[in-house]
Amino acid sequence: MTDAPPHYRVAVIGTGFAGIGMAVRLRQAGLTDFTVLERAHDLGGTWRDNDYPGAACDVPSHLYSFSFALNPGWSRSFSPQPEIWEYMKRVAREHGVDEHVRYGHDVTAAHWEPDHNRWRIETAAGTVTAQFLVSGAGPLADPSYPDIKGLDTFEGRLFHSAEWDHGHDLTGRRVAVIGTGASAIQFVPRIQPRVGSLTLFQRTAPWVMFRHDRDITRVERWLYRSIPLAQQVARKSIYWGRETYILGFAKNPRLLKIVERLGRANIHRSVEDPELRAKLTPDFRAGCKRILMSNDYYPALARPNVDVVTDGIVEVRPNAVVTRDAEGRETEHEVDTIIMGTGFHVSDPPVAQRIHDADGVSLSERWGTTAQAFRGTTVAGFPNAFILAGPNTGLGHTSQVFMIEAQIRYTMQALKYMCRNRMDRLEPRPEAQRAYNEKVAESMEGTVWVSGGCDSWYLNEEGRNTTLWPTFTWDYALRTRWFDPHNYDLRKSRGVRAAEGVRRGGAHERVR
Ligand code: NAP
Repeated sequence: MTDAPPHYRVAVIGTGFAGIGMAVRLRQAGLTDFTVLERAHDLGGTWRDNDYPGAACDVPSHLYSFSFALNPGWSRSFSPQPEIWEYMKRVAREHGVDEHVRYGHDVTAAHWEPDHNRWRIETAAGTVTAQFLVSGAGPLADPSYPDIKGLDTFEGRLFHSAEWDHGHDLTGRRVAVIGTGASAIQFVPRIQPRVGSLTLFQRTAPWVMFRHDRDITRVERWLYRSIPLAQQVARKSIYWGRETYILGFAKNPRLLKIVERLGRANIHRSVEDPELRAKLTPDFRAGCKRILMSNDYYPALARPNVDVVTDGIVEVRPNAVVTRDAEGRETEHEVDTIIMGTGFHVSDPPVAQRIHDADGVSLSERWGTTAQAFRGTTVAGFPNAFILAGPNTGLGHTSQVFMIEAQIRYTMQALKYMCRNRMDRLEPRPEAQRAYNEKVAESMEGTVWVSGGCDSWYLNEEGRNTTLWPTFTWDYALRTRWFDPHNYDLRKSRGVRAAEGVRRGGAHERVR
């Protein structure tokens, strides 16, 4: 007879902001019967993986951090990746999350077992079962490589910005960078002075704004340490300042013309060549794609060793990237290194292919091209599962950590409700999920994300935005403030087990 796999009340996938935040809140509620499954050998999620040169957050750190763990020691207004990663590790350590994390446990499949009322989770390092599954895998977990003919024939070094090869010395190299998104605009200025030549393949010119980044002074840090309220005030003022962006993004996109004027000024400030200026000027409403921020991107592109190529890539050869212009003429750009700044599997996250309902159908199959959840968190047909950073919870204007915390609060409310009322199974009603998503789609109408004249990864194949939250974030926080049982099918526990918590290793637990 084989041993039964270890069973937990809750299994959390991932140790990014979502996984760590969830684990902290579970512990604070007195529930320690949970595990956190992490595929890598350290925690941090996308902030662990994205250690490319220049990686930093484009949301100010006072806001891009947990509400329960403000950090008075941030060194800059927009913190660099190593500092954010350190912060996450410290929060995990100080809140006792570390002891719950199982490293090297890449989740390969999770199946709902209705007869046992639990999730059976297969990982690279064995199986566990859990009554509740919380996915904190996040949308920026899996790098996306473009489908370009001949990519596998390239004989030089090729890597993705999220899998940076620090052992590959770029000094004097002929480097191709594909993509001009949030990641590329950060690493291009860092590598440009070192490389021999840099050919930047730009499919769409992004709007890039001046970034008001600065050191946080010692006096400020002392103030935040001595008077925590001062940092709360700083955080709140950034939060409300960022919420005003919604007036342009969602309420009246014509206001974004002001942003476009600033964007054009940013190009003019750094680039003198009219041809390059024209290439770098976007042809869609600012905000339709994420607005980027950098002070050194345009100056780097104006350097003599950089060539911005806007013709489409048709092929990669063993030592070159081949493009074709509007007249059909092909050009071979010889390179020895290709760096992909081509983003992530956001709308088709691999974790959704791994989570299966009682019939063995994956979340991704159920969703098809349109990912939908109730309150962005729970999905009809997938009992006792919570998807953090789920459909329509992404943001184009402020801190994702704010949304993640709102979802965690909602999930905790649900768990507490079930515990108090002796329930052991929850699932959103399909009609509630439908009505919720209709409202989200209605709010999305007229926003810059669907009407701004661009093709972005926010949109699915039908042009529907299944990625972003369409309005103010406080609106989402209000909607998820309290668990709403009337929107759920809930099942009473057959025994007292679910109501009283579970016994493991003699420890008796009750969710507070
Ligand atoms: P991204 O924003 O998705 O950008 C991908 C880039 O690759 C785009 O310029 C895209 O062009 C281009 N691309 C994709 N396939 C291509 C192909 N076949 N040929 C040519 N170009 C191609 O990816 P990212 O820059 O890695 O950023 C992903 C997300 O990470 C961001 O939106 C942001 O939310 C997050 N991020 C955040 C920070 C931060 O500071 N908080 C920093 C970095 C990243 P098109 O525009 O034409 O599609």
